[in-house]
Amino acid sequence: MLMDKEAHAAELERTFIAIKPDGVQRGLIAEIISRFERKGFKLVAIKLIVPSKEFAQKHYHDLKERPFFNGLCDFLSSGPVLAMVWEGEGVIKYGRKLIGATDPQKSEPGTIRGDLAVVVGRNIIHGSDGPETAKDEIALWFQPSELVSYTSNAEKWIYGVN
Ligand code: UDP
Ligand code: MG
Repeated sequence: MLMDKEAHAAELERTFIAIKPDGVQRGLIAEIISRFERKGFKLVAIKLIVPSKEFAQKHYHDLKERPFFNGLCDFLSSGPVLAMVWEGEGVIKYGRKLIGATDPQKSEPGTIRGDLAVVVGRNIIHGSDGPETAKDEIALWFQPSELVSYTSNAEKWIYGVN
């Protein structure tokens, strides 16, 4: 639906997306970024970091009772992670659609995990699962000054705003 500028601005969301060490090591950074970029979402923060195990435990704190928690945190801290923030209308929910189901065996073809991963423990990408987690994860991984607000020339073509 076409909107005026203010209505569009009010619909904008931000989500935290990370390419995990397996995705980075497999050379899938450009492939994954291009899927978000071509869709029409906007990159507003990006950095490559090796998180400590303590940091990984903070990121996955919701899962601390799960049997795979320790291995998951070891894995996330085992190498470079590409941390990003993507912005757009509906980006939190639609970002999860682009990513696909947690278990790549259940991810549809056409999704990132469906096309590029095989097992749940090496599913190459993380995405926030809702507005609250998006807010918390962005705050955990980025300083406010690392988030870049800008208008892209493509926005009027993507959203139909003037
Ligand atoms: N995970 C795992 N075994 C499981 C379930 C999850 O190793 O049985 C890992 C997997 O890498 C997943 C991460 O834990 O991406 C976080 O789990 P969550 O349920 O939050 O899935 P996601 O939000 O990443 O789809
Ligand atoms: Mg999750």
